[in-house]
Amino acid sequence: MEFIDLKTQFRRLEPDIRARLDAVLAHGRFIMGPEVAELEEKLAGFCGAAHCVSCASGTDALLMALLAWGIGPGDAVFVPPFTFFATAEAPALLGATPVMVDIEPETFLLDPDALEQAVTAVTRRDASLHPLPAAARNAALRPRLVIPVDLFGQPADYEAILSVAAAHDLLVLEDAAQAFGAEYHGRKTCGLGCHCAATSFFPAKPLGCYGDGGAIFTDDGDLAGVLRSIRVHGKGGGKYDNVRLGLNGRLDTIQAAVLLAKLPLLAEELAARRRVAARYARDLAGIPGLTLPAVRPGRSSVWAQYCIRLDNGRRDQVAASLQERGIPVNIYYPAPLHMLGAFRDLGYAPQDMPRALAASRSVLALPFHPYMEDGDVAAVAGAVREAAA
Ligand SMILES: *Cc1c(COP(=O)(O)O)cnc(C)c1O
Repeated sequence: MEFIDLKTQFRRLEPDIRARLDAVLAHGRFIMGPEVAELEEKLAGFCGAAHCVSCASGTDALLMALLAWGIGPGDAVFVPPFTFFATAEAPALLGATPVMVDIEPETFLLDPDALEQAVTAVTRRDASLHPLPAAARNAALRPRLVIPVDLFGQPADYEAILSVAAAHDLLVLEDAAQAFGAEYHGRKTCGLGCHCAATSFFPAKPLGCYGDGGAIFTDDGDLAGVLRSIRVHGKGGGKYDNVRLGLNGRLDTIQAAVLLAKLPLLAEELAARRRVAARYARDLAGIPGLTLPAVRPGRSSVWAQYCIRLDNGRRDQVAASLQERGIPVNIYYPAPLHMLGAFRDLGYAPQDMPRALAASRSVLALPFHPYMEDGDVAAVAGAVREAAA
């Protein structure tokens, strides 16, 4: 059994992928070839955003948005502590201060009430209202931006987050790296009206290419123009007319070609993912001490990960027992961001983010992909049931 099976999808799409790759090999425009613009148009149409700017990775997507807004030293950027490192790495690389905002325990998603408290705490420089990083206690930071994460494939609570953001004049950058194709009240992620959204096409993500890739979405035409400039070393009118600092942040034509071949199958694969998740929910029901992943009403998940919770210190024992039976499992994430060495200078204590800390000790990701057979789901669920007994 594989944790994520990419080979079955390749077998289904092989002629289309090979034809798309052959076309690139024939025209030879490996950098910003015609497939890149074709993909951007299709992706923007898919999620209902006015503009799509493809780029080299999900990390670059976050970084480019922050660069476009001039985020830097003295800025407070609100992030959940339970996410992939890049969410907080990008603002920190630019000298901004990540301010951690704890998650809702049931969904693992940023808690909008905690966001309100954290923004107020930064504004008043009062850590008694909400735990703050050392930099926000020692100096006045400007609250600039929040990066909600659509963790494991489910959109965060955008209605509440956008309302807190509007009240405090914060920009909202949706980190949809795990959730391209998920829905929130009938609208798709990356098209939810945030100032900007970032996604990733890393191979294991719900829509993945065959290397690194990412994209940024926005309804703001001026911002899209700045992002296109940042993508190519801050170019102006011409290639050697650099008007700002940027990156080499382009998506390879070959990766755009792979994504174009995969895109027509995405809706079917997302439906298959929902079926596998429903099957897991049925087969795992009623195991004492096990909590199934929760999807809020009005939202759908693309199930980038299927993470169960096992409380009271039983997670590691269940994980070991599954691995002994040849069932691959993973832990996303074994440490919340505020406990990582790279963020030691933020000066947080473990219990400052109690819900993220508890999640990191109890989550277990089970094998999951759209081509998983019912029998495999039943076998995994049976093994979890025995190990958890
Ligand atoms: C994968 C991921 C990223 C980074 O994407 P890359 O394409 O790997 O750079 C950012 N945020 C989250 C939440 C992710 O899961």
